[in-house]
Amino acid sequence: MHVSIVLFTSDLRLHDHPPLRAANEARLVVPLFVRDRGVTDAGFTAPNRLAFLADCLRDLDAGLRERGGRLVVRSGDVVEEVCKAATETDADEVHMAADFSAYAQRREHRLRHALEADGRRLHVHDTVTSAVAPGALSPASSDHFAVFTPYFRHWSGVRLRDAMGAPRRVRVPDGVGSEELPSREGLSGVSAGLATGGEAAGRARMTSWLRDGVGAYEDRHDDLAGDATSRFSPHLHFGTLSPVELVHRAREVGGPGAEAFVRQLAWRDFHRQVLAARPAAAIADYRTKHDRWRSGPAAREDVEAWKEGRTGYPVVDAAMRQLRHEGWMHNRGRLLTASFLTKTLYVDWRVGARYFLELLVDGDIANNQLNWQWMAGTGTDSRPNRVLNPVTQAKRYDPDGAYVRRWVPELADLDAPLVHEPWKLRGLDRAAVGDYPDPLVDLSDGLARFKQSRGLD
Ligand SMILES: Cc1cc2nc3c(=O)[nH]c(=O)nc-3n(C[C@H](O)[C@H](O)[C@H](O)COP(=O)(O)OP(=O)(O)OC[C@H]3O[C@@H](n4cnc5c(N)ncnc54)[C@H](O)[C@@H]3O)c2cc1C
Repeated sequence: MHVSIVLFTSDLRLHDHPPLRAANEARLVVPLFVRDRGVTDAGFTAPNRLAFLADCLRDLDAGLRERGGRLVVRSGDVVEEVCKAATETDADEVHMAADFSAYAQRREHRLRHALEADGRRLHVHDTVTSAVAPGALSPASSDHFAVFTPYFRHWSGVRLRDAMGAPRRVRVPDGVGSEELPSREGLSGVSAGLATGGEAAGRARMTSWLRDGVGAYEDRHDDLAGDATSRFSPHLHFGTLSPVELVHRAREVGGPGAEAFVRQLAWRDFHRQVLAARPAAAIADYRTKHDRWRSGPAAREDVEAWKEGRTGYPVVDAAMRQLRHEGWMHNRGRLLTASFLTKTLYVDWRVGARYFLELLVDGDIANNQLNWQWMAGTGTDSRPNRVLNPVTQAKRYDPDGAYVRRWVPELADLDAPLVHEPWKLRGLDRAAVGDYPDPLVDLSDGLARFKQSRGLD
């Protein structure tokens, strides 16, 4: 019987998995995951993502075992390991999901070359990790969309392929060696409140959220304390949920909440197609404003206070502490903290993006870097100089202060609106908030510095 290898990368699921479906047709299948030395060497591994990944691999293995198979795990260079497994099992083809980053493109190229030199074939499947593949849509005048609204119009008109079920049976050839599956235990630096990974957890969340959450999404997605977003981002990052399936399922639910949610999924594809066309945007300004960002000791101290959640602006500090505790942050928090770092403190977006990638369980090169650029005004935002005022935003998106009280215990006894402006407290009341710091910078001074730096005054 012919043998196929399915190389899993950031598509760690059995449902709606075109490579597995294609490989599994009347064949033996080697479901392979390679712990990629290249990713580790590039410093892109972070404890929270390693822990979530370990959950995902264990769950994938369990799902395969239920179907008569198992997961094969190897470590090293992906190309070498796939070729080794192909030789061992005499596999004549390899299936994998398309990926868009510059690193993944190089890896795919090397793999195709190495396999073909050995008389084997590589099949790369689109729309496994994106709903609409990068490059599938482009305006007449460019290789990618630089503005979201026209992109979304085209994106909405694409007829998506149907979602697929999980295979009923997977037959793995005998005797294929595997390393032990990684586990969370023994990993240090994992956030205490990190979510559980794996397809089972992702699908359970999908079912409950589509039933109880998505309907109110449009009205509540910015409610910091309400925590009313899907929290699918780590599942989308590791591919334990399929974007194609999510779009279909949300459209079946229908209504304004589902539409608003689908629009967010389109933002994810939008950033992927920008980065696929402009890989340098992961590190360089997409549209430079010629910033000469602050650096030096004072800026470094400001960055430390920002990281520790001790800027003296409660909503900024709450969000930064949520990030550290959960390895995840609410989108409104991400916007606020990124605006605060890049605009109010006038610190390089790369400093913030790097710190987010150290902690975020959904830390994603396209979404993280391009959202940071968006907020820094060096990306695709059509209003690049907008500055979010953390006090006004806190009063709007955390009106009774519950989010701040949850994450900043020093302020747990304060009511809104004072909880958002503790510097207004006097005497004994001020003493009651313990060592919660005074504001790092006056907002009007920060704004003036930013405007001057950008030549806007
Ligand atoms: C500075 C900054 C950094 C960010 N870094 C990341 C990152 O590393 N990884 C990441 O997945 N998202 C990132 N985002 C986007 C967004 O904040 C998260 O996707 C979202 O908060 C995840 O929560 P959720 O799954 O509950 O989202 P929901 O609101 O339920 O949205 C559903 C899905 O849509 C996608 N989505 C939502 N908002 C955006 C957006 N603005 N851009 C692109 N896709 C979006 C995500 O895949 C998300 O899971 C960042 C945003 C900012 C402002």
